[in-house]
Amino acid sequence: MPSINLTIQAAPAAACAPELADGPWDFDAVPGYGPGSSMTDVIPVGSPRQGELPAEYREASDAELHDRIRAAKQTLGDRVVILGHFYQRDEVVQHADFVGDSFQLANAAQTVPDAEAIVFCGVHFMAETADILAREGQSVILPNLAAGCSMADMADEDSVEDCWAQLMALYGDEPDAEGRASIIPVTYMNSSAALKAFCGRHGGVVCTSSNAETVLADAFERGQRVLFFPDQHLGRNTAKRLGVPLESMPMWNPRTPLGGNTAEELRDARVILWHGFCSVHKRFTTAQIDQARAEHPGVRVIVHPECPMDVVDAADEAGSTDYIRRAVAAATEPTTFAIGTEVNMVNRLAAEHPQHTIFCLDPVICPCSTMYRIHPGYLAWVLEELVAGRVVNRIRVDDAVASHARVALDRMLALRPVPAAV
Ligand code: SF4
Repeated sequence: MPSINLTIQAAPAAACAPELADGPWDFDAVPGYGPGSSMTDVIPVGSPRQGELPAEYREASDAELHDRIRAAKQTLGDRVVILGHFYQRDEVVQHADFVGDSFQLANAAQTVPDAEAIVFCGVHFMAETADILAREGQSVILPNLAAGCSMADMADEDSVEDCWAQLMALYGDEPDAEGRASIIPVTYMNSSAALKAFCGRHGGVVCTSSNAETVLADAFERGQRVLFFPDQHLGRNTAKRLGVPLESMPMWNPRTPLGGNTAEELRDARVILWHGFCSVHKRFTTAQIDQARAEHPGVRVIVHPECPMDVVDAADEAGSTDYIRRAVAAATEPTTFAIGTEVNMVNRLAAEHPQHTIFCLDPVICPCSTMYRIHPGYLAWVLEELVAGRVVNRIRVDDAVASHARVALDRMLALRPVPAAV
């Protein structure tokens, strides 16, 4: 099965944006996330920009880039570790030492403490988390600085601080008779280091899509309410599974007084959901599920919990990328799977499990815009710079921010160990 990259090169019209066939460097100087699923999202002013990739990498053939990556990796040996997120294109993943989700990869990096450099083929918040967990002296490198995450960018520190100030004014900070805080902040792993630090400072915690239920259940024991950011869908789907009624989950629209709610609605809330979403998972619909069931009787539909609630409800199962990967691997009989997550991962699962029929619920090829900014050209460039003794595109989290963020990460780890990387 050809990679998504090769499929798009062969038939750009099959993708949501024909420009996906161009090199990502064509978009480095242009504001926005670039072509792909989040191309209509608003990129924050001041988001990191990538400088121009040297022409030798932009003009090199795929074969030449792969040879150069392999050679640089061999020269660097144990000095470098390359991490590849499940949503990366195959042309990048093939060079990764570890493949997994964001937290698995950050943990995987800790298993190679002798590596001087961690090259994170993922997006910005993932590289930040790796830097927070890295040992002193290790450099975390993001091959393309324009690889942000539109969902993470939907909750900025100022807006969350502003929201918190309004909520504190409403609730006060006194615990109730049972000792529960008035509100506990919970941030999804897909958020900036600054917001993880915010949670660390305010008795809050980080969650992943694998452990969101455990984290929320614990937060309800410690607090009367939860402020959940940035992904409304993960928050809503998880709280619903825990029995929280929808009317107790108001949405917070930043920069609107009380987030667009009445004081009474907020007083009655159990979970306040930030108005954020993932543009990849927002594309999945119940109509796609209906079509899959009509065309493939007996199909097993598994979607990611970043999908909207009606899609999660209509699916057979919902779970994290690791859950999806394990569910497919565990199927003993030939099975037809319709999967609602990023298309690079779905295609890779299909190639790895030819005994099954596996397809993406979304018939249009529309990869995550920002994951797609990592191209073998950037990987070759950062590795060859390392060979020359230069660290480029280093992601560094301020020490004070990192130490508070680690508090929120440690609270999560104390609840349940996160599975090891593949
Ligand atoms: S798939 Fe969604 S949450 Fe993940 S990096 Fe892309 S935009 Fe962000």
